[in-house]
Amino acid sequence: MTAPLPPTTPDVPDTSLAEEEVVTLASELIRIDTTNTGDPDTVVGERAAAEYVAEKLAEVGYETTYVESGAPGRGNVVARLAGSDPSRGALLVHGHLDVVPADASEWSVHPFSGAVQDGYVWGRGAVDMKDMVAMSLALARRLKRDGIQPKRDIIFAFLADEEAGGHYGAQWLVENRPDLFEGATEAISEVGGFSITVKDGVRAYLIETAEKGIAWMTLRARGRAGHGSMVHDDNAVTKLTEAVTRLGTHRFPIVLTDSVRDFLHGISDITGFTVDEDDLEGSVAKLGNIARMIGATLRDTANPTMLKAGYKSNVIPSVAEATVDCRILPGRQEAFERELDEILGPDIEREWVGLPPLETTFDGALVDHMTASILAEDPGAKALPYMLSGGTDAKSFAQLGIRCFGYAPLRLPADLDFSALFHGVDERVPVDALQFGTRVLDRFLRNC
Ligand SMILES: [Zn+2]
Repeated sequence: MTAPLPPTTPDVPDTSLAEEEVVTLASELIRIDTTNTGDPDTVVGERAAAEYVAEKLAEVGYETTYVESGAPGRGNVVARLAGSDPSRGALLVHGHLDVVPADASEWSVHPFSGAVQDGYVWGRGAVDMKDMVAMSLALARRLKRDGIQPKRDIIFAFLADEEAGGHYGAQWLVENRPDLFEGATEAISEVGGFSITVKDGVRAYLIETAEKGIAWMTLRARGRAGHGSMVHDDNAVTKLTEAVTRLGTHRFPIVLTDSVRDFLHGISDITGFTVDEDDLEGSVAKLGNIARMIGATLRDTANPTMLKAGYKSNVIPSVAEATVDCRILPGRQEAFERELDEILGPDIEREWVGLPPLETTFDGALVDHMTASILAEDPGAKALPYMLSGGTDAKSFAQLGIRCFGYAPLRLPADLDFSALFHGVDERVPVDALQFGTRVLDRFLRNC
């Protein structure tokens, strides 16, 4: 005689309410226009979004801290949920509330409508990153409401100004209010945890373990001012544009970093596609939509983006300036600068602002929990590390010694060009991906 099956009562209440809420929260957050133009005078909505989040947290019993970071209206909200084991480091779950601008005339739906239709939540911020903000908020509420105590403290942070570098958000808080992140050893946030379909329906979930560094460089050439009608051999505009042309057409060498190598070999294990280390660009080109993202992590880049010189047609200016958006691989800063010396020559002055690259390893207990939580909801899938060519608030939190990951889980349709949705027209997120992510993150936050 077979023994009776044990009762199937789950040990914790299910996530159905959080899965319902996450859709409403994402939609309502999108309806709060939080456009960050990069010009502090024209930024809108961050305070309203922060107040909305604070109210949703207070409603279930959180004490929240509201901080304006460096200027009026730059709202941030932080709340902490105490864990059962104070000996363990806290986990920071952070998300930014601001979005990049959107031109409504280009969209199928209004970008701040938060429309829920055709199985998607539509609008600016749907994937960058009000999706993860909504998942975090839904789960912060769920854990509190259901009286679930995680093992470690969880710090939920909802932040301003990521889209313009975090000077009025994460970076300001790191410099001025590090007490809010006391005890945090690891963090999760955006641009990781989403799926790509690699072969015969097999999904790989890309967990971000590295980011290229950002260096916004001003180049300056000086010459002799003079009349535009004269013979003149010391022209700042000419000197500058020659240097900018050399730099803009230069290709930096391909460098295979650990994160990119692990990613490519992981893909190779699933698909059987061979990674040709002598032709990495050719190998990456076979990856489909994701090739655009991965291709940018094979080498440093330096793209000229702005030029400034002169004030009148017949006056040769004494100074000309250019801005170059440089993205540098982990470990490449010195080599990159040596290459710049050669390309630009001694007469071009340079100034930098930016933040260094990040890279961590794809191992340890937290990574195991991230992987297991995905596999529990999508058996047969794989989790792989990858490097983001852009930057996030993780760069700021890394300055506090926090080990940062991109982990905002979404199970995506095979044919969705996900990376094109970031800052793109008709940005949208599948409703069932939000609900999937909520289940994955619930398991992760309860156990990690
Ligand atoms: Zn973002």
